[in-house]
Amino acid sequence: MNHSLKPWNTFGIDHHAKHIICAENERQLLSAWQHATAEGLPVLILGEGSNVLFLEDYAGTVIVNRIKGIEVTESADAWHLHVGAGENWHQLVCYTLDNNMPGLENLALIPGCAGSSPIQNIGAYGVELQQVCEFVDCVELATGKHLRLSASECRFGYRDSIFKHEYQDKFAILAVGFRLTKAWKPVLTYGDLTRLDPQTVTPRDVFDSVCHMRMTKLPDPKVNGNAGSFFKNPVVNREHADALLALFPNAPHYPQRNGTVKLAAGWLIDQCQLKGYSHGGAAVHQQQALVLINQSNATSDDVVGLAHHVRAQVGKKFNVWLEPEVRFMGPTGEVNAVEVIA
Ligand SMILES: Cc1cc2nc3c(=O)[nH]c(=O)nc-3n(C[C@H](O)[C@H](O)[C@H](O)COP(=O)(O)OP(=O)(O)OC[C@H]3O[C@@H](n4cnc5c(N)ncnc54)[C@H](O)[C@@H]3O)c2cc1C
Repeated sequence: MNHSLKPWNTFGIDHHAKHIICAENERQLLSAWQHATAEGLPVLILGEGSNVLFLEDYAGTVIVNRIKGIEVTESADAWHLHVGAGENWHQLVCYTLDNNMPGLENLALIPGCAGSSPIQNIGAYGVELQQVCEFVDCVELATGKHLRLSASECRFGYRDSIFKHEYQDKFAILAVGFRLTKAWKPVLTYGDLTRLDPQTVTPRDVFDSVCHMRMTKLPDPKVNGNAGSFFKNPVVNREHADALLALFPNAPHYPQRNGTVKLAAGWLIDQCQLKGYSHGGAAVHQQQALVLINQSNATSDDVVGLAHHVRAQVGKKFNVWLEPEVRFMGPTGEVNAVEVIA
């Protein structure tokens, strides 16, 4: 276990892996997978490690996907981008704006790789990846067979896709196809964006506003390790939401098309007075309760202990049981994060 995972996860947790290999093309990725598998070692494919919490040393090979390349084609009504999975997401957003292909500006400054973006259907400020994703190119690791999944085949949901279910572990994402419509319409439904004038606003204005909001509200992982929103916004049934709203009329709530109601996890945590609460080296971020940070050399046990406390407090007060958005990695692969913090 010689290789530290600390530079490879934005939480900055110092566990180790047996091997860490950077793959710059598909051949290197498949060869690393085959070598590890022949040795009986587990394999974890990683982008920038901004959505994972390593619980222990990883007893196998971590393959860091750095497959690059952006190709653009144009049709009458849209630009079509074919983007290597290892491209940095924010740089892709900048590239599209610099080349007058708007549509990704609400998703600016989300850490991670383009190839990871479909996995949890990244979203921010009213836009989700599924609105711009045309297809995802994958390779089946055991056979080397290529597959192109259309956006509908990806079964995108809230922080969810087929890549967190049937396609997990058996497939690697090699590239993502985007369709950016030329009929650009600004999405100005959240935060400071609501103050922009839809008649005159430019994609660059939206980008600047999103970057400003993120830089002022979210902790920079380079300063305080974190993995963004630690918990998903919980979705409850209508009766549960009504009971909660009778007691807490100010609770932010978002009715969903299927009759369920989405609640704001950050608000629930904040109501438990947990901002700034710490456990070992881990803490609830002072400005954004949804983010757990590595305040001072936190161990994964510190983060798990803190997450357990937050979940228990919110559960006790609201009878709402938070689930991590962050993926928990054990010694041989992903483990059930809810069970770990329950
Ligand atoms: C400060 C901060 C802010 C954030 N804000 C947001 C936000 O606004 N919205 C949002 O949705 N998310 C947000 N996130 C979470 C995170 O940025 C996204 O989930 C991002 O898409 C993860 O990319 P990654 O490359 O770091 O993935 P990783 O953490 O490296 O991997 C995530 C999972 O995908 C798997 N994986 C990675 N690459 C591949 C591949 N090529 N093939 C198959 N499997 C693969 C990994 O095994 C792992 O299970 C934030 C994170 C941070 C630190």
